[in-house]
Amino acid sequence: MKDNFEDVCIPFNRSPYLDIEEEYLMKVVKSGKISGDGEFTELCSSILQKKTSSAKVLLTTSCTHALEMSAILCNIKEDDEVIMPSYTFASTADAFVGRGAKIVFVDIRCDTMNIDEKKIEEAITNKTKAIAVVHYAGVACEMDTIINIAKKHNLFVVEDAAHCIGSTYKDKVLGSIGDFGCYSFHETKNYSMGEGGAILLNSKNFVERAEIIREKGTNRKKFFRGQVDKYTWVDFGSSYLPSELNAAYLYEQLLNFDKIKEDRISSWNYYYKALKELADRSLISLPFIPFGCTHDAHMFYIKTKDLTERTKLIEEFKFRNILAVFHYVPLHSSPAGKRFGRFHGKDIHTTKESERLLRLPMYYGLSQKNVTKIVDTLYNFYKK
Ligand SMILES: *Cc1c(COP(=O)(O)O)cnc(C)c1O
Repeated sequence: MKDNFEDVCIPFNRSPYLDIEEEYLMKVVKSGKISGDGEFTELCSSILQKKTSSAKVLLTTSCTHALEMSAILCNIKEDDEVIMPSYTFASTADAFVGRGAKIVFVDIRCDTMNIDEKKIEEAITNKTKAIAVVHYAGVACEMDTIINIAKKHNLFVVEDAAHCIGSTYKDKVLGSIGDFGCYSFHETKNYSMGEGGAILLNSKNFVERAEIIREKGTNRKKFFRGQVDKYTWVDFGSSYLPSELNAAYLYEQLLNFDKIKEDRISSWNYYYKALKELADRSLISLPFIPFGCTHDAHMFYIKTKDLTERTKLIEEFKFRNILAVFHYVPLHSSPAGKRFGRFHGKDIHTTKESERLLRLPMYYGLSQKNVTKIVDTLYNFYKK
């Protein structure tokens, strides 16, 4: 995994490569069946299904598309409202906006960067249809509270679980707690198939319709199972199934699920321990993992004093050939967010905390030597 390149420059991210992918890819190529739902798709989905105990896991072309499928399954219509945090990726909102929904953003908690569960209920109106939660950095939202609110008001819960494959909340796997869970296997995530994702259907009731939506609105799956004698267009749908080539690339990573996770966790723990002193001296803040939650080390972030300090620190890292990045301009302050959504209540933490957050390099195979170099850079910076 470690090559000379990293002696010169420490990348922010790189996707796992396990050295057998070529063999799997050639197997698919030679089989002549490179479209979706073949052997590797089946293998990947069954591993995920076992790991999550979800009623059904379907591989998709992306997490964005898994979110879109969720929005269709929630029957989101024009002018329905969906509650979500503003501190997230555009896809969380896109999926619902595509169905005509209005987005209602609520503030985040400053400790986890997750939606503040205490602010959800006051944002509910008679148009609210769903709550979309994002488990930021692979750390769970306060799901018991959120599920209770959803039950009380008869709302769907969609988990944007792009960051948290393998994280848990009170022993439940994230993505398997709400009605739908959406995984990402994009290159930047813990497990990757280039572009791809999965939808977790947590109730058997949604399986049949989900299979139809994923297959352009046809009952093709039933036809192949011999349950109907011809296949036809039965519902609205799209093309949400990935190619076998992508699934073949993902397979070995899923077989090495724990190995990849443990490698990341070990880098995460190393960062945390090494930076604790800077946090104790109140120079930076470190991530917080609530009691009862385990995470998958999707990212390691620190928070600086403010935006000015973060900008200087990024420059310092760049000077030392280390790529540290920030992300997510809060959606409510983006052009599309202003058009398609509104912020309910006060933005106390969303903007302020998003401007302080800086992600440090994190990937499978990140060497201890490089983590040390990154940590040293931080100590030097704060000595000044
Ligand atoms: C990466 C990401 C997505 C989109 O994932 P794709 O698989 O690229 O569509 C959605 N939500 C969050 C929170 C993400 O980080």
